[in-house]
Amino acid sequence: MSAREMRSEEEERWAAVVARDRSRESAFVYGVLSTGVYCRPGCSSRLPKRENVRFYDSTAAAAADGLRACKRCLPDGRDARAVEGTIRRLCRYMEARLQSHPEDALQLADLAARAQLSPAHLQRTFRAVVGVSPKQYVDGLRMERFKRSLQGGESNVTDAIFDAGYGSISRVYERAETQMGMTPMEFREGGAGVAVTYAAFETAMGLALVGATDRGLCFLQFGESEAELVERLREQYPRAVIAAMEPRSSAGFAGWIAALNGYLEGRAPDLRLPVHVRATAFQRMVWEYLQRMPAGTTQSYREVAEALGRPTAARAVARACASNVVALAIPCHRVVRGTGEVSGYRWGVERKRRLLEMERGNVAGRTDA
Ligand SMILES: [Zn+2]
Repeated sequence: MSAREMRSEEEERWAAVVARDRSRESAFVYGVLSTGVYCRPGCSSRLPKRENVRFYDSTAAAAADGLRACKRCLPDGRDARAVEGTIRRLCRYMEARLQSHPEDALQLADLAARAQLSPAHLQRTFRAVVGVSPKQYVDGLRMERFKRSLQGGESNVTDAIFDAGYGSISRVYERAETQMGMTPMEFREGGAGVAVTYAAFETAMGLALVGATDRGLCFLQFGESEAELVERLREQYPRAVIAAMEPRSSAGFAGWIAALNGYLEGRAPDLRLPVHVRATAFQRMVWEYLQRMPAGTTQSYREVAEALGRPTAARAVARACASNVVALAIPCHRVVRGTGEVSGYRWGVERKRRLLEMERGNVAGRTDA
C-alpha cells in the first residue's frame, strides 16, 4: 500500500470514529495512546484527540501494542466472529452474483464497498479467513462452475466456458492446465478417455505401484500387495481407462522406474520426474515448492506456509501434503511437524524416516567426497 493510500485509509477510519459508525465495527479497532485502551468505531466513550489515536486491523494487533480492551464497547471476543461473518456473507454474495451474472468481473473495489472495508483491508482479511485472495476465490468459483457444467454432459466445451463467465476460450484452457492438470477435453465426464498405465515393482523401500498418463506420473504409492495398490489407483481415477503396462512398451516409463530405483537405493539423490495430476491452485503451489526443496532438507508445515507468503495456512499445507498421490516425485516426506518430529506420512512413519535418512546420508556422502 502506498503512503497516500495508507493516509486515506486512516482518514476514512477517523471519520468513522467521529461519526461513531457502528456499521464499521468489524472493520478495525482504534487505540487511544493517552488511556492505553482500544475501542470499536461505534464506541460511545468520549471522542479522543486525533493525535492520540492509532488504527489496527485486528484486536490482536492492538493487544500486541500493549493496549487493553475497552470495558464499554468490548472490542475483543466479538471481533473475530464479526469479521468472519462479514467475509462469509461476502463469499455467499460472490457465489450468488456469479450465478446470476457470470460475466461480472467482481472487482476488489466493488467487493470492498459492499463489505464496508477498504480494498487493502478486505484483501488481508479475506485471505486470513478464506486462505486465498478474493480474486483467487472468484477464479475458483468459475472453475467449479465450469467443471460442473462439463460433467453435466449437456453442454459442449465452448458453451461451458461462456456459462462460467470466462472472457475467452484460450484463457480458460491456460487456467485449466494449471488448475486441473488436465485439459478441459480430458476432464469431460470425470476424466473418461484418459489412459493410465501402471506397473508394480519392488524397491528398497517396499512394493510400489506407478501409474502414468502420456504426460507424466499420476500415481506413485507404496503398499502391501499389487491388488491393493491397483484398487487405490482405480479409486483415485474412477473413470480413466486403466491398464497394466506392457513390459518394456514405453522407454519413458522404464526410464522413470530406473530413476526411482536409483533414488531409493541412494545412488541418485535428485529425483526429477514429470508429474501429471489434478491440483487446485494452492496444492500446485505447495507441491511445486516441495519439488524445489533440496534432498535431505526438511521444513515444518508452518515454515512452508511462511515461505509461500501464507503464514496462517500451515493446516492447508498439511492437507495439501496429505492429499499427495505421487510419493517421492512430489516429496511430501520433506515436511515435518514443527518439533522436527517425523510424523504423519501416508505411507508409514517408518518409511518416511528411512527416506529422510537415505537423503541425508546421500547429501553428507557427497560433501565428504
Ligand atoms: Zn470503547
